[in-house]
Amino acid sequence: MDNRGSSDLRAPKVKNVQDEDQQSATREASYSDLKIMSLGYRWGSCSIGGRLNIHWATMQLPPDLIDYVLVHELAHLHVRNHAEPFWKRVRLAMPDYTARRNRLKQLGPDLWLPE
Ligand SMILES: [Zn+2]
Repeated sequence: MDNRGSSDLRAPKVKNVQDEDQQSATREASYSDLKIMSLGYRWGSCSIGGRLNIHWATMQLPPDLIDYVLVHELAHLHVRNHAEPFWKRVRLAMPDYTARRNRLKQLGPDLWLPE
């Protein structure tokens, strides 16, 4: 006899820690302002006050590489430098970031227009 008295047919909730980490890596990033501008040799920048600047040339990139630039700058809201904690945060939001970063390095110089 089943003495759990169960009339609840819902499946048990299984925590997916990786999914939660991935979601929080992007959800916790909020910026105060976003500007599209000329940034010289940089795709983007992030100020201490949470202002993101994205180079207008970024808009020439394929959408998945634009996403990489945005995730990269959003991660800088939490970690200013490029040390391991920074890349860990980028990886949580975008597990395939290494492939995208490599494509950006290859593709970027072809799209860049002179200032
Ligand atoms: Zn950076």
